Amino acid sequence: MKSYDAVVIGGGPAGMAAALYLARAGVNFLVVEKMTHGGQMLLTDELENYPGFPDGIKGYELADRMAEHVKKYDFEHRYAAVEKIIPGKEHHQLIIEGETVQSEVIIIASGVSFRKLKVPNEEKFLGRGVSYCALCDGNFFKNKVVAVIGGGNSALEESIYLSKLVKKLYLVHRRDQFRADKVFRDKCLDNPVIEPVLNSVVSKIVGKTEVEGVELFNTVDNSYSVLDVDGVFIFVGFNAVCSFFPDELELDQLGFIKTTCEMESSIPGIFAAGDIRSKKCRQIVTAVGDGATAATAAYAYLEHK
Ligand SMILES: Cc1cc2nc3c(=O)[nH]c(=O)nc-3n(C[C@H](O)[C@H](O)[C@H](O)COP(=O)(O)OP(=O)(O)OC[C@H]3O[C@@H](n4cnc5c(N)ncnc54)[C@H](O)[C@@H]3O)c2cc1C
Repeated sequence: MKSYDAVVIGGGPAGMAAALYLARAGVNFLVVEKMTHGGQMLLTDELENYPGFPDGIKGYELADRMAEHVKKYDFEHRYAAVEKIIPGKEHHQLIIEGETVQSEVIIIASGVSFRKLKVPNEEKFLGRGVSYCALCDGNFFKNKVVAVIGGGNSALEESIYLSKLVKKLYLVHRRDQFRADKVFRDKCLDNPVIEPVLNSVVSKIVGKTEVEGVELFNTVDNSYSVLDVDGVFIFVGFNAVCSFFPDELELDQLGFIKTTCEMESSIPGIFAAGDIRSKKCRQIVTAVGDGATAATAAYAYLEHK
């Protein structure tokens, strides 16, 4: 059985930052990525909030630059999916596409995927008016009209953030009331920029080459209508990629890994970094910070052992 000091799961920004710090510390480690390096950065057209790039940078370009930097160092990497983590006292085991390897430390940096509405034009207009991240894309809609889809805490929190940028915001929800906490409901209902649109389901995103509107189906009177908007922000939940987690791993209510500020999970020797861990701000800059912190803490753990 192959044996490593550390295995990093995921080749997104958190995984790449962890790899950089482990490599520079001289750790014998493996990076496992099930698709290609870059993670969600590959879904981002223009990045305007990663420090050091005042004119912005394309997501794929930043991904390539990070990969180029990390590949300067000598370590093993595999394009494969981790299927299971089996925690142990001395070593943890990982099943990677049927093969078992062992490692003293594991850094989980497997990210999240956003739940989609699965309506026509949603994928086509991603980055051209469709967004899943107000912090990332809100600035592109300054003084414009947007629709936010969802009725939970994320949708309402993000609406409050967006309301400071946009001219008008339609908050579209399929039920007759929002299920978010009262504090967010009150803030949204008192906000002159935000107009709630209840009992409404998005049936289509409308536009020729970019978002021009959303078609809504009213669940009370069964009618269709179109709201003219420049952007659609979708907050209908996200899925932590967690099918390979051990049962003992402590998660928060939404399925994200609980960690200390040093990125240690509830299982000794297992760390988590980036979007997969329980936190508020899911961004590239925080993913990179988490990756560096996790790798440094993992190195200290190995030294202590
Ligand atoms: C459309 C869009 C726009 C965004 N815009 C911005 C922005 O402007 N600015 C910003 O800072 N942030 C932005 N973000 C958010 C940012 O991309 C994420 O916060 C960041 O990529 C998280 O990094 P991560 O490494 O934790 O996870 P990810 O980037 O999700 O990478 C995780 C990696 O793990 C791999 N993986 C998952 N499961 C396994 C497994 N079982 N085995 C092996 N590999 C696995 C995945 O294939 C993936 O490559 C945007 C996100 C999206 C979707």
